[in-house]
Amino acid sequence: MALASFLRNKRLWLVLLLLAAFVIPYLMRFFPDSTLHKPAASEPSTVPRVQVQVPPFSADSAFAFVEKQVSFGPRVPGTPPHKKCAAWLVGEFRRFGLDVIEQPFVAKTYFGPRDAVNIIAQYHPERPNRVLLCAHWDSRHIADKDTKDTEKAILGADDGGSGVAVLLELARMLQQHPVEGIGVDFVLFDAEDLGDDRSESGQSVMMQASNDQKTLTWCLGSQHWARTPHRPGYTAQFGVLLDMVGARGALFPREGYSAQNAPAIQNRIWSIAQELGYGGFFVDRPGGFITDDHVFVMRGLRIPMVNIISIPNPPPAAFGAHHHTHNDNLAVIDRNVLGMVGHVVATVLYRTAAGAL
Ligand SMILES: [Zn+2]
Repeated sequence: MALASFLRNKRLWLVLLLLAAFVIPYLMRFFPDSTLHKPAASEPSTVPRVQVQVPPFSADSAFAFVEKQVSFGPRVPGTPPHKKCAAWLVGEFRRFGLDVIEQPFVAKTYFGPRDAVNIIAQYHPERPNRVLLCAHWDSRHIADKDTKDTEKAILGADDGGSGVAVLLELARMLQQHPVEGIGVDFVLFDAEDLGDDRSESGQSVMMQASNDQKTLTWCLGSQHWARTPHRPGYTAQFGVLLDMVGARGALFPREGYSAQNAPAIQNRIWSIAQELGYGGFFVDRPGGFITDDHVFVMRGLRIPMVNIISIPNPPPAAFGAHHHTHNDNLAVIDRNVLGMVGHVVATVLYRTAAGAL
């Protein structure tokens, strides 16, 4: 067939058109997005890019949750503001449709016993495949790093309040944008911050990778929960702990115990943060070993758990100038930081639910 008659052949054109309309889109399915657009250099090439709709995380709502917690005053176990805040937290989680369990216990602090309560809010408790999201909700009983009023309790807007606020907003998000396939447990630990920080070396006990008596004065709520979880034999795919995730100037290097015991999930979280444009905050370097609630959960229940904790400076001021001072109030809170952490954890959650983490 000469070229001219070939081009005049109407039936042939029809066949070509049909090819274009049906066969090409069919073939395209074998070439997903990631092969058409080069993935970012930071994206591990082994992870397929799957489009998962992640609802927007409201930083303003999270900020309001910090504001509300701080409005009760310092949430020190055994005090009236602590009791009032617990009732409010339980009410909020119930308002978001979750099954809440209160787990009261006596916190044996280095200055005596105090009434404390872990708050566990369950999203679809009947689902076996679970994700654990944690923060501590108490605030420190003293301002031992301040220069004045060191014996008075701190407001803990960042240290305590910020992590709880991000979790409350995620719980609200799950109510508005339900997920299939996974259940979620929000566990708010009490009595995390009542520890004895008077180490001889002058270095914060929290920064020591040890198992001595002083280390064990911290994280009393998670120690209690890891010994006696709200359900016997409780387990989860993985856990994320949020601690000090709201202050201006926050920086999230890779915490050491998480890197050691939950490297795969830590890699995913840091790579997602980079993908979302937060690589300058979720910095890809080691952040030191922090004795925090995740250590006791990993030890007791063998659930891999990643601590997202701001460590903006080298020791001794590792946690920032406001840490364990009266400056840890609403003025240090930056809603953009809350929003960024919320966006990252929401992405982790919705991708996990879609089987695409
Ligand atoms: Zn603290």
